[in-house]
Amino acid sequence: MLLHYHYAGSDPAIYCRLDHFTLCPFHRDSDNQDDNDPLRSKLLLVFMSSLMSLFTHCPMCKENSPGRLRRTMGTFVEIDENCKHCGFQRSWQNQPLIDKTPAGNLLLSAGILFAGTSPTKVLRVLKSINCYTITTRTFLNHQKKFLQPAIKTVWTKNRNNIVQKLKETNKHKELVLGGDGRCDSPGHCAKYGSYTIQDLTINKVLDVQLVQSNEVPSSVHMEKEGLVRCVRFLESENLVMKTIVTDRHTQINKWLKENQEHVDHRFDVWHLAKNLKEKLVKLAKDKQCTDIGEWIQSILNHLYWCAVSTPDGNGEMIAEKWLSLNNHIINIHTKHGRVFEKCAHGRLPAA
Ligand SMILES: [Zn+2]
Ligand SMILES: [Zn+2]
Repeated sequence: MLLHYHYAGSDPAIYCRLDHFTLCPFHRDSDNQDDNDPLRSKLLLVFMSSLMSLFTHCPMCKENSPGRLRRTMGTFVEIDENCKHCGFQRSWQNQPLIDKTPAGNLLLSAGILFAGTSPTKVLRVLKSINCYTITTRTFLNHQKKFLQPAIKTVWTKNRNNIVQKLKETNKHKELVLGGDGRCDSPGHCAKYGSYTIQDLTINKVLDVQLVQSNEVPSSVHMEKEGLVRCVRFLESENLVMKTIVTDRHTQINKWLKENQEHVDHRFDVWHLAKNLKEKLVKLAKDKQCTDIGEWIQSILNHLYWCAVSTPDGNGEMIAEKWLSLNNHIINIHTKHGRVFEKCAHGRLPAA
């Protein structure tokens, strides 16, 4: 029986001689493919004393021969065994190396970045419990050298697949998109702004554009510029947008009207509701308007209903539905307007 020792970088010839060990402390199930894959392997936190207790005797002659911690590199640990009695030598490593980079260090950096958390905080946690770990500098190195290029590769590949699929299913000529921007410091003078467009029928992001404030007249122009770049991308891929839903950003409104006349531009009801809620909450604080407080949620529900119940986007209908609110609140449910005559709800219980 051949035992599977996991001494990375070791000479297999040495370990063939260890076949006779039936109870190898490091024996691993050879059928478990996961352990050989750094990405799927389970990791453990091990106390140094527990680990060193495995390196007290020579595995060959069984004489007393304590292992020695040779080096550490972030989370990487190497232990040397040198038997004075029989000359047996080996070095044990706690993780595989990928082209000289310890896999565990890279995984830690990847975990921090992909979880969107703060490297300083995570590394401080590990340091505070005396765990060997990487430095912030190593994290930044990994990010630049491996992780960001990996993200870019995966993103490009996935996006190409999405675009390909849209074309295959012939959806690329009538895209229904949602677009919104975000800044690095909301409410302040931002340096970077990103604009994202998403296909609302398949719920996939089609493009993200990053704009730096010095590329445009001022930081308030970043959102429009981001959208313009997204539209350029769509054009380069032969994708045609039929509808786009955005917030009520005035520059975007103007640009779409002037440059994309064929596009059905709609405002996102979530943004509208958020804005309206702020106003109503403020108004309800006025001594004469406290009654509004109890109506806020119903008013917001009504706003959403106005949009949802009018899928064809008939502006007159939506406006009349919305204005019927004034009547409904004072218990009048008919004769609202020309196209929306009476409330859609059934009989209301007497108050
Ligand atoms: Zn020995
Ligand atoms: Zn009503």
